[in-house]
Amino acid sequence: MNSALPKLHYKRDSCRLCGGGTLKMALSLTPSPPANAFVKESELEKEQPLYPLDLYFCEECKHLQLLDVVDPSLLFENYVYVSGTSQSFVDHFKRYIDSVIGKYPIPENSLVVDIGSNDGTMLSFFKNYGFSVLGIDPARDIAHKATQSGIETWNSFFSPDLAQDIIRQKGLAHIVTANNVFAHVDDMLGFVQGVKQMLHADGVFVFEVSYLLDVLQKTLFDTIYHEHLAYHSVKPLLSFMQLAGLMVIDVERTTPHGGSLRVTVQHRAGPYKQEQSVIDAVINEEKVGLDKLTTFLAYGSQIQAIKERLQELLQTLKQQGKRIAGYGAPAKATTLMYHFGLGSEHIDFIIDDSPLKQGLYSPGLHIPVLQPEAIEHESPDYLLILAWNFAPQIMEKQHSFHKHGGRFIIPIPKVCII
Ligand SMILES: [Zn+2]
Repeated sequence: MNSALPKLHYKRDSCRLCGGGTLKMALSLTPSPPANAFVKESELEKEQPLYPLDLYFCEECKHLQLLDVVDPSLLFENYVYVSGTSQSFVDHFKRYIDSVIGKYPIPENSLVVDIGSNDGTMLSFFKNYGFSVLGIDPARDIAHKATQSGIETWNSFFSPDLAQDIIRQKGLAHIVTANNVFAHVDDMLGFVQGVKQMLHADGVFVFEVSYLLDVLQKTLFDTIYHEHLAYHSVKPLLSFMQLAGLMVIDVERTTPHGGSLRVTVQHRAGPYKQEQSVIDAVINEEKVGLDKLTTFLAYGSQIQAIKERLQELLQTLKQQGKRIAGYGAPAKATTLMYHFGLGSEHIDFIIDDSPLKQGLYSPGLHIPVLQPEAIEHESPDYLLILAWNFAPQIMEKQHSFHKHGGRFIIPIPKVCII
């Protein structure tokens, strides 16, 4: 494997939120290739570059972030995630929109802009309520399909220049949304300045991000990979929005991605009062220690202990001649396998339910990804559940494997055999 860095990567030297330069290493994970860089058989000879995966803590605003930035075109060019395909996401968006419209009186026919609109699922609900809608998404095929299905979607990354185009062609937006894109943005200040420009004086900007508190408390360290540059909590966002001339007026914890944070923002002189939820969240974060470097150093030790326990278990099983298959090949499995030092010497093959991944090889380690039927043909002794957040559902689905003597290994939050 080649650990030299090609030009599709750079390392920034200032905090993405406050611009400060006092950055301390908080958690050093093992360098890995982009977490979704699955390869075809014909590409196995090609070396996949590894990029550093180090989290830094800003001593000034307390924001936790990656400083190593991999070129987004490398990360998102083959983006296939389509939000409308998951019923739980469709339901989530419906409740989300009802909540926003219920709290903030937005005039009918107003413009709603969704940044990172994917297949337009969220905007279709806004459209049904009589709003005028516009989607922005960098994935070409998905943007094209959304437009064809009636949700006008511009195929682009969002920027202040694009905000100017939107204002010229569509006017100001009363609602701007951005879900699960805020963690992907390197130039955060440019991004929110663009939002501010196109946001109506009485408008609200609402976004959802994975919540650092959940990453910490639920041991979701494997959601740390190069696509996710920022690990958000409320306190750093307050000062950041203020810097951008905006103001956080409400925060709420929601369920997607193992635990998310929904943040509502307005212009600094906007019409709404700041809710108590904002202050309560900051107090809670301080209680847990999200504003202290030592919290993340302790987190690293906790992850190290899991790693040692898992390696010891897998080595013992391999010495006994057992066959072990991984179950699930989500992006986060790349972080987990690299950081825990797992490879083809531990895992014979990986099972994934998605036909898009079957027949491919895992990023960097090149472990084959097979369809679930392979469990019958190959009869592994153990299934190591890499998609461990879905462990109950996977064990339920594979109950016949268990009935015939197979065992499950759940790696996180604590290594256990079932
Ligand atoms: Zn900072």
